[in-house]
Amino acid sequence: MKGDLTVLGIESTAHTFSAAVVSQKRGLLCDIRDIYTPPEGSGIHPTEASVHHAAVAGRVVGDAVTQSGVSWVEIDGIAYAMGPGLGPCLRVGAVTARTLASSLGKPLIPVNHAVGHIELGCMLTGAVSPLVLLISGGHTMVVSYSSGMWRILGETLDLTLGQLLDQLGRYVGYASPCGRRIEEAASGSRRYLRLPYTVKGNDVSFSGILTAAKRLIDSGEPFEDVCFSVQETAFATAVEVTERALAFTGNKELMVVGGVAANKRLAEMLGVMVARHSARFFVVPLRYSGDCGAQIAWTGLLAQRSGVSIPVEKGTVRQSWRLDTVELPWRMTK
Ligand code: AMP
Ligand code: MG
Repeated sequence: MKGDLTVLGIESTAHTFSAAVVSQKRGLLCDIRDIYTPPEGSGIHPTEASVHHAAVAGRVVGDAVTQSGVSWVEIDGIAYAMGPGLGPCLRVGAVTARTLASSLGKPLIPVNHAVGHIELGCMLTGAVSPLVLLISGGHTMVVSYSSGMWRILGETLDLTLGQLLDQLGRYVGYASPCGRRIEEAASGSRRYLRLPYTVKGNDVSFSGILTAAKRLIDSGEPFEDVCFSVQETAFATAVEVTERALAFTGNKELMVVGGVAANKRLAEMLGVMVARHSARFFVVPLRYSGDCGAQIAWTGLLAQRSGVSIPVEKGTVRQSWRLDTVELPWRMTK
């Protein structure tokens, strides 16, 4: 294998269609995104999102290659998010990747989206083998690497934290994703309204918070106070289970990744907890907290370097591909 490796990665699991190019020697060369926005008050409609993705795919991939400064022949592999995610959206990314791989005669590399969040976070922050809080629209879980796989030490039993915030925002007419607007609203309040706090074993549950928050809105409580209370309650449950996992594993690194990692209050609460354990705390940089091609391109590069690739006809999608079933040959050799 040649000394450098250059991989094009395609992300299309939910609202974002993105393509990025990474080089083993020069790092991330570009990351181009086009995000589907549903009408105000609505969530992602999978088929409509996939129509958006199909419409922008050619331009996004073309722009990524142009901006990366590498030529098509210099690209060594085509990585794509095989899952988990929304079927129609995943299929656009898979078709795009298969087409490129077969027409260019390059290896096709399947990437698990959650692994992508974690590996990009490690690359950008310098964390090596951290305890990870993966907290996004599709995931809320605390995971620890052991014997070749990420093991789940705690997760949500119902909604993800991103879904909780998005559904709360939609209730008052915002379009998904709503996390940033909820954070802005919450920053205007310090008035805590009691909400259900649900931790079961080392798992969390958010559906009770959503129901109670909607009732508070219906009863006329100010939206800022509801947002503040939802954040304080939901984040506290996530911090509690993360702290237990940190104490249990004895890990001296905690990293938070995923779209909700953009939230400053969450980072503040986690930071206070991590300091109690004298551990190092890593937050994925804001621009790369949410879904992006970079997570797929970088993980694809790690995978290709370890010999992972599949024939084009096996380039399907796996809507429910759980993180704790993914093999990570590049980590096994560390
Ligand atoms: P991802 O699935 O990783 O793209 O993350 C998207 C999720 O992150 C959505 O549920 C957003 O509402 C959420 N999100 C984005 N920015 C913030 C923020 N500042 N605070 C809380 N959640 C956020
Ligand atoms: Mg994600």
